[in-house]
Amino acid sequence: MHKNRINILGTEFDNFTEKQFHLYLDNDLDFKANKFIVTPNPEIVLSARKDANFSKIINNADYVIPDGIGIIKGAKILGTPMHERITGFDTLKYLIEAANRKLLKVYILGSKPEVIEATANKIKKDYPQIDLVGYHDGYFKDEGEIAQEIITKKPNLVLVALGSPKQEIFINKYKDQLNAVWIGVGGSFDVFSGTKKRAPKIMQKLNLEWFYRLVKEPTRFGRMLAIPKYLNMINKEKKARQKNK
Ligand code: UDP
Repeated sequence: MHKNRINILGTEFDNFTEKQFHLYLDNDLDFKANKFIVTPNPEIVLSARKDANFSKIINNADYVIPDGIGIIKGAKILGTPMHERITGFDTLKYLIEAANRKLLKVYILGSKPEVIEATANKIKKDYPQIDLVGYHDGYFKDEGEIAQEIITKKPNLVLVALGSPKQEIFINKYKDQLNAVWIGVGGSFDVFSGTKKRAPKIMQKLNLEWFYRLVKEPTRFGRMLAIPKYLNMINKEKKARQKNK
């Protein structure tokens, strides 16, 4: 897979369809492979440029999937178009459904106590074939203790919602101690548990999900300034690549 990666300002994305990705995931779960999935958006691409260690963690992951229309647009502008956007949220849903189908063990970590509680309850109610071996909110003191708990309980799937780069740093540090599919899911539990709503389907289709989030959470405005900055850098990169041709 790594051969087919598309470089967007230093972050190397896998270029496959969502269907193909799901086939890989099914295979990984069936064979108890050790896999690390990251789902960068433009904001993460920019932070990876400023932090060599974070960039290395992202680029060394087994799957780097394009979460965010900005990545797809950027790839197109750079003349290296990608198949399609694959969101972290849809991946989370697919993994939970697959774990239910395959009767697997799952551990969920992160988000606020009431959110992780609601997420655990939803899994128990709607995905009864999952063996939820444990869960913990994302506001803990002793990281090593939590990691040890996860490793001892031997889940096949570990979902980590600590936000970036915290979740990726955590997974990278401990993943080699347990063969499982590990993924950082950001704020996905907030939506999955029903605590926060996702944008209406029509807005998702029109690529206006970011606008919905901005209206609902105006404090995200600062973070969203990353998008024009990102597009500006993409255009500069395009010019630089044309010069070097
Ligand atoms: N979070 C956490 N522990 C922390 C910091 C954040 O569990 O120390 C959680 C937070 O409650 C939220 C998620 O991490 O559920 C981050 O959400 P955000 O919206 O920032 O992530 P995004 O989806 O934008 O990547």
